Amino acid sequence: MHPDTLLVNAARPTKEVDAPVNEPVHLTSTYVGWEAGGQERRTYARMSNPSWDGPEELLAALEGVPDPKATPALLFSSGMAAISAALHLMPVGGRVIAPRHAYNGLTSLLQSLAASGRLTMEQVDIADTAAVTAALSAGGGDTILWLESPTNPMLEVADLPALAEAAHAAGALVVVDNTFATPLVQRPLEAGADVVVHSVTKYLAGHSDVVLGAVVTADPDLQAQMHTHRTLHGAIAGPMEAFLALRGMRTLALRLERSQANAAELARRADAARREGSLPLAAVVYPGLPEHPQHELAARQMTGGFGSVLTVEVAAPGDGPAGGPGAEEASVAAADAVVQALRLWVPATSLGGVESLVERRRRLAGEPETVPGGLLRLSCGIEHVEDLWDDLAQALRAAATGGRAHR
Ligand code: PLP
Repeated sequence: MHPDTLLVNAARPTKEVDAPVNEPVHLTSTYVGWEAGGQERRTYARMSNPSWDGPEELLAALEGVPDPKATPALLFSSGMAAISAALHLMPVGGRVIAPRHAYNGLTSLLQSLAASGRLTMEQVDIADTAAVTAALSAGGGDTILWLESPTNPMLEVADLPALAEAAHAAGALVVVDNTFATPLVQRPLEAGADVVVHSVTKYLAGHSDVVLGAVVTADPDLQAQMHTHRTLHGAIAGPMEAFLALRGMRTLALRLERSQANAAELARRADAARREGSLPLAAVVYPGLPEHPQHELAARQMTGGFGSVLTVEVAAPGDGPAGGPGAEEASVAAADAVVQALRLWVPATSLGGVESLVERRRRLAGEPETVPGGLLRLSCGIEHVEDLWDDLAQALRAAATGGRAHR
């Protein structure tokens, strides 16, 4: 079945007369046990819940796990809980090679685990395959190569098959955060990754109404280790959240089709306006733009599109040469003015919902200084592209003239 059909058709109750078309939400903390004479499979709801089964098998199937029933994905209470479970695959004292630009929750967690002696961390430019390969072959015992592609928020693209091969040659485990792309765009396990993690909060659930995470692997041993981690650390998904995730996934293909088309069109128009100088833009980054440094790689690897996130760097009014004195502060002020002037785009962190969100990244603590201060991350939703463009263009114009539009 095509993923679009699978998303709609999978994880439904058996088709029989009077059966509901959706699985009910199983609100229970425990299950009737073997004393009642049956073969006990569930025991207690920190270990399993029927409300997890559907979304877990569906996500494994989408990520290309050969036997999703035997090796389902594992839902967690958040993307961070899923990240934590994957990191714990590594013995104490191991090393994590991670992107220098990555989701800042990951970077903060690695820094805190490094400070407590749990692991050592090295940050690399994941778009530089030779540099990552050199870091891998420099040795260092048990190693996880942690990849995001595209990275958050810089949208760098990693050569997943080449890096997986180099990592395995060095005896490292490869984890890919596939939140930005989703399995409809790229399938890291098929590129050689050992584990995929997701913030289900984002595109999979898709409506900014649930916080949830997941790990996916085709390796039964790794899956069992992360299952045990979940049971013992207890970061489980609520059954209602699991239901909402499955309901969101039903429309993933349609939502992505629209949000990716919106992102591609907005990137094209913004970049044209930047080149003409008709809008105050210093840079527009989107893996689908031919000018993106890894565009060809992205086109090969992201077979289902280029994602629904783009970034723009706002130029300050009357900007002198980029990088001149005060340029960064002026660009930050101009970017903040753009966000203030937007009427339709929602100023909020996160991404992947049906509504378009905008965020100036460097306002967040922990973002590295290599992320430009005036960088706006745009998470495109499923609204009409003309409304999104009109709003963005008017806000950029308002910022350029120093005026503020009223909400
Ligand atoms: N991975 C990426 C790429 C993210 O953007 C996020 C959250 O923004 C996470 C993981 C963490 O997920 P959650 O917020 O569901 O814990």
